[in-house]
Amino acid sequence: MSTGCRDTPVLKQRGQREVFCGLTGIIWLHRKMQDAFFLVVGSRTCAHLLQSAAGVMIFAEPRFGTAILEEKDLAGMADANEELDREVDRLLARRPDIRQLFLVGSCPSEVIKLDLARAAERLSAAHGPNVRVLNFSGSGIETTFTQGEDACLAAMVPALPQTDAQELLLVGALPDVVEDQALDLLAQIGVTPVRCLPSRRVQDTPAIGPNTVFALTQPFLGDTHAALTRAGARHISAPFPFGAEGSTLWLKAVAAEFGIAPEKVDQVVAAPRARAEKAIAAAATTLRGKRIFFMPDSQLEIPLARFLTRECGMDAIEIGTPYLHTDLHGPELDLIAAGPVISEGQDVDLQLDRVRAARPDLTVCGLGLANPLEAEGLATKWAIELVFTPVHFYEQAGDLAALFARPLRRHAALKRQHP
Ligand code: SF4
Repeated sequence: MSTGCRDTPVLKQRGQREVFCGLTGIIWLHRKMQDAFFLVVGSRTCAHLLQSAAGVMIFAEPRFGTAILEEKDLAGMADANEELDREVDRLLARRPDIRQLFLVGSCPSEVIKLDLARAAERLSAAHGPNVRVLNFSGSGIETTFTQGEDACLAAMVPALPQTDAQELLLVGALPDVVEDQALDLLAQIGVTPVRCLPSRRVQDTPAIGPNTVFALTQPFLGDTHAALTRAGARHISAPFPFGAEGSTLWLKAVAAEFGIAPEKVDQVVAAPRARAEKAIAAAATTLRGKRIFFMPDSQLEIPLARFLTRECGMDAIEIGTPYLHTDLHGPELDLIAAGPVISEGQDVDLQLDRVRAARPDLTVCGLGLANPLEAEGLATKWAIELVFTPVHFYEQAGDLAALFARPLRRHAALKRQHP
């Protein structure tokens, strides 16, 4: 008998939301794709967001920038396309290392209806084949911050070359060290060949076709999932590789697709799994029995709730997610014991009322909500940290649990000082 949450009625909310925009994804995408450049076509606000979010990059030659739309562009008094072409010409002349250029849409470029798809085609014709120009939107209108990566990867899919080979495509921008761990485990299990989307360099761009199977490493890649499916590839449905259990179930689902028995996976992962369980157990002493509330923000909420309830002993009160994709999140919901409210979308005031009524031990939320909740004596965890910190697979599982234990310990220490 299923005891999971898959059939739990979903509380759907539409109202004011408190989230970062999709431009945020550029911060981790530019680190991953080493010969790509992200040119945001936006306002000074967009430039400011990128600069402050990626402050450390000030000292490096950056792989992102902003083509500023001035007031005359926004008022339709100048040809923004001509200016964009000039800006791109200058950039590519100065930076011959750029092999992929992403034109990234923003709220202002959407408001003035600047057609970046047409611009990408025009610029690809002018600068190809040396430079591939693609476009996606990072606009904050109706999006949440992890959708930037989803939009970027989905934009890459139609440009991928074709193949009939039976290959695994690993989808999601993992830090290189984590991706290497995953590739090593898959090789030991006997899953080959494996390609990655995004690839680190343009020459390693994967091909796809009817014999491609793909496994997502991030739960926020709904549009990429749809684009890959349209291109003929098939999704391997599995829980996401968070925690010892999630990592094992993910690897077993991939192995099964390649005709490899689960016992082989158990044998390969025995040592890293034991290390992960030990590290999780250390953090779980703080987490066990604590009540957690997820505001919808990163789209990681459902897999993290599964990890925290099943492997760390926490109790979830509400698991909010900006979007609920049954194809992606169904296997996770199957594993979460019935009880928590599952909510999709946000009406921030109503949700804050529920937080205040429940007074959870820990609330996972965006930066904008964290400070007011802390001021009300509630411990919070910033959702954005979860995408800036390596948290996938076995070697990071202890760090993932510790990310949630830290604010609880801090909160307990503050309470001792100021009872
Ligand atoms: Fe702000 Fe929109 Fe620019 Fe994001 S894309 S920084 S939400 S103006």
